[in-house]
Amino acid sequence: MFTEELTTVKSINPATCEVLGEVPSLNAQEVQASVQAAWQAYESWRLTSYDVRARKLLKLRKLLVSQADEIATLVTKEVGKPLAESFTAELVGPLDACLWFAENTERLLKDQLINMTNPMLTSKQSIITFEPVGVVGMVAPWNYPFAIPMMSIIMAVMVGNTVVLKPSEKSSLTGIKIGELFGKAGFPPGVVSVITGHRQTGVYLTQQRLAKLIFTGSVAGGSKVMAQAADNLTPVTLELGGKDAAIVLPDAPPDWTARGLVWGAFSNCGQACASIERLYVVRGEHTQSLIERLVGYTQALKLGPGLDASSDVGPLVDEVQLGNVVAQVEEALSKGARVLAGGRRRHDLGGYFYEPTILVDVNHSMTIMREETFGPILPLMIVNSEDEAIELANDSDYGLSASVWSGNLGRAEDVARDLDVGTVFINDCLFSFACPQVPWGGLKKSGTGRTHSYFGLLDLVNIKHVSIDAAGGLHRQWWYPYGKSRIESIRGGLKLLHGNFPWEKLGGACAFLYNSVFTPK
Ligand code: NAD
Repeated sequence: MFTEELTTVKSINPATCEVLGEVPSLNAQEVQASVQAAWQAYESWRLTSYDVRARKLLKLRKLLVSQADEIATLVTKEVGKPLAESFTAELVGPLDACLWFAENTERLLKDQLINMTNPMLTSKQSIITFEPVGVVGMVAPWNYPFAIPMMSIIMAVMVGNTVVLKPSEKSSLTGIKIGELFGKAGFPPGVVSVITGHRQTGVYLTQQRLAKLIFTGSVAGGSKVMAQAADNLTPVTLELGGKDAAIVLPDAPPDWTARGLVWGAFSNCGQACASIERLYVVRGEHTQSLIERLVGYTQALKLGPGLDASSDVGPLVDEVQLGNVVAQVEEALSKGARVLAGGRRRHDLGGYFYEPTILVDVNHSMTIMREETFGPILPLMIVNSEDEAIELANDSDYGLSASVWSGNLGRAEDVARDLDVGTVFINDCLFSFACPQVPWGGLKKSGTGRTHSYFGLLDLVNIKHVSIDAAGGLHRQWWYPYGKSRIESIRGGLKLLHGNFPWEKLGGACAFLYNSVFTPK
């Protein structure tokens, strides 16, 4: 049942609450038509060469550079992030991805020749080929409304798939821009289609016949999407939420570490899947100095509209997101947490502003230490040992990324290896989503599958095995007819190949030869 309101989606600037535009919210028939058009486009797109696709990606790259200002401004208006972040976090990744996948995909996905180790299979040659799979459905969030879908679309079309993208209802205009850019870069109609709409439009997409579905969004959304895709057994990659921990070892240089942590916690107003949402400081001589710097750098951040070049932190995306932050902070305070910096909604700024906030005296009974906050809050616990920090970091339903901060790289790497996550950063955080060369993805409720890199490419292709037998005319040991001598020859063959003792192998060889060569059936 739809109300009139749900036939369109409004795009709203979270810094000013101004309506930026209104676009259609597509219904089931319209979504189905887009997916059918994508299957039709796939028939010819899959036959294009890597070279043709690469040239179009390089043209897209040129367009991204020439339209960088327009794209960054649109993203900032639609989701509120500071303009500096719209250039770095939204454009750097797609630009690098155009270049890297254009230059490397053919090499990474070239045929592989496989040799069999079983002597009975010496006449065989195996080839692994990597082929496109068809239409890839993508459902995207608003927090990186340009970079997230762009990175995956670039990979999908480069391997010969076509894509139907459902952008978030909070960033429809950016989604439409993505479709326009691929069109202008010369990708034929139907290769990249964008379907705007509310959540329900996404539901329709997940119920279509798709070769693959990539969902990036909340844990609740991901679990529904997995169920929706189950009817068609559509393979799903899920890139979901995080509750990412940072561990500071006692030897970490306090000033530089504090600067990094403040950026990791408050970049994008804390609305990154891999934002630092929990901080465990291993007690040491620098602890007090680290905390003082964390507070100082947090209080120095300028809160304001993203289009104002002096703003460091923008607004939250909407009232719901802000309400969630307020509720988590209030619950933590009611259970004994204390505010060291920030801690207030800023009505005076208009829009959905909340001060970058540091909390102490927190513990794992609080929602703020267990559930994704997705806001500018950094809760901090001082712990007594590395082991305690690792145990607390792993005590989470999420497993997206983590960071370890230390002056001793070897020691930090030991800690990194003990953390149950998809990515660990040593002495940095967040940045690698923008790197096409390395995989992205999480464990536990943070999702399943990997995007980006060689491993992300493997998620987008049919890994096909072609087995060729060059020994035409030779009867195979495992073909019919069976019979006593066949069983004896196979029994002998097993002992010959895998017997534990030399005499067992020798006996096996005799049985194999006698039964297969001298008395064939
Ligand atoms: P969301 O789950 O509310 O929505 C994401 C997208 O899914 C939107 O386009 C929405 O319309 C659609 N959607 C929601 N429910 C659906 C359903 N049942 N069927 C089909 N489509 C559906 O998430 P959001 O608020 O847009 O994004 C924030 C979340 O995304 C956070 O949890 C964040 O951590 C996560 N995220 C994860 C990554 C990652 O790489 N792991 C990256 C960015 C964001």
